[in-house]
Amino acid sequence: MGFYLVENPNPTARVTAPYARWGYWGIPQALRQPPKVITVHTAENTPDLTGTDGGAEAVARFFATTPRRASVHKVVDSDSVIDLLPDTHRAIHSRFAWEDSLSFEISYRAAWWGRNPGYEARLLKNAAGICRDWVAEHGIAVRRIDLAAYHRGESGFIAHADLDPTRRTDPGPTFPWATFLTMTREKEADMLSRGDTNQDVFVLQNLLTQYHDLLAEADSDKAPIPGALDGIFGPRTETSVVAFQRYIGLEATGVANSMTVGVLTAQVASHLEQPVDDSARSAAERATNDAQAAHQRLDRLHNV
Ligand SMILES: [Zn+2]
Repeated sequence: MGFYLVENPNPTARVTAPYARWGYWGIPQALRQPPKVITVHTAENTPDLTGTDGGAEAVARFFATTPRRASVHKVVDSDSVIDLLPDTHRAIHSRFAWEDSLSFEISYRAAWWGRNPGYEARLLKNAAGICRDWVAEHGIAVRRIDLAAYHRGESGFIAHADLDPTRRTDPGPTFPWATFLTMTREKEADMLSRGDTNQDVFVLQNLLTQYHDLLAEADSDKAPIPGALDGIFGPRTETSVVAFQRYIGLEATGVANSMTVGVLTAQVASHLEQPVDDSARSAAERATNDAQAAHQRLDRLHNV
């Protein structure tokens, strides 16, 4: 409930004017305007990839003790989210944009994205969770913006590297922006991704398997079998979702959001109803226009 840097004021900051009385390197003064931008960072620390991850805690301690002027609003790792400063405080998270942007650190390294998809999925889920709340509260646009757009005053998400390209690379050239923004945009309940284990995953796997079986043999690599029908969203389920999204022309995020599940459901239904006439692609276009009806079909499937 509390804010780590407010409760653990940086002792170096405490003795250094002009920020001494605040005791941490944030400025407890309302942003001049409501925040329109979220800056995305990776902390460049070494995460604990096995057992209980203490990455975010280590980053929080760093900000509470560093002699550098540095702070951030929140930090996430694979199993925790730590609030460091209230949204109303300016956090000194970059040389640029700190006066008017919210900021968070992911406890990971900019050069590592893609190395450990299961672990990264948990990082992204926690990061998307805080951003979903920020978007709801402050009306921030869920899209990536570049430096020119930032200077035009547009709303969105910006990479630290885009603000400070000569000195920073985070969150990294292979940071999965599309997946991250999709996860931020969706209601958590409407979104399935790597690491989920539940009945909805089982339904998704069933749909992917049916779709695979309905495609002609030559096309079945467009939707590979998602592995065992076990309700566990693992690497094979993710591969199957990505292949389906790519084939249908959706953003290939590997996250089964309501659009993906809706189109998949409509695809299976339309293949069952009209086997030969239409190409898969034109059926997909119709299905995309009707994702909501498809969603209801999914609900019905659920009740089987
Ligand atoms: Zn950074």
